[in-house]
Amino acid sequence: MLPLMEEFYTIQGEGYHTGTAAYFIRIGGCDVGCHWCDVKESWHANLHPPTQVDTIVLNTKKYSNIAVITGGEPLMWDMDHLTKSLQNKNIKTFIETSGAYKLSGIWDWICLSPKKMKLPLQEVSDAANELKVIIFNKTDFKFAEEQALKVHENCQLFLQAEWSNRDKMTPLIVDYVMKNPKWKISIQTHKYLNIP
Ligand code: SF4
Repeated sequence: MLPLMEEFYTIQGEGYHTGTAAYFIRIGGCDVGCHWCDVKESWHANLHPPTQVDTIVLNTKKYSNIAVITGGEPLMWDMDHLTKSLQNKNIKTFIETSGAYKLSGIWDWICLSPKKMKLPLQEVSDAANELKVIIFNKTDFKFAEEQALKVHENCQLFLQAEWSNRDKMTPLIVDYVMKNPKWKISIQTHKYLNIP
């Protein structure tokens, strides 16, 4: 059983898989405490109904062969059963995580979005396919470079403006990426498209 906050079929709006249709599984529970978090409703796991993994897998299979497990912070829970069950049904398993908790589960893609308040464990940085750093203010560029030193050389590097501050930070990100082209820009396209 996992505390399921919501599940929905949509288009991945940000990061490496932008534009890809996928089934999103949002697991409740997060104690990282980002002040700009746009899913604060997810923080308290006990507000979200414990749901059988098999039910989640059956629901996913109706819509997609790609599952994006997000939160909240999904690694607060043991992801082994869910990811194995999804893969047994030929569903690819992608995760969005802050990396603050021990890595569990079998993943086809790990998107690490590290947070200053609770730094990622090295084992998650080691396994990350994608590093997506949220830029809320100028000091976040330095944080992004520190985190980039912790991932492997093939990890895809993205900078993404924090949504409420995007008008201010996007021009700085554009400038930064042009000067440091190992980074790419991630844009929250789903918010412009008005989809979940
Ligand atoms: S890690 Fe994610 S879910 Fe948790 S507080 Fe930060 S933005 Fe919100």
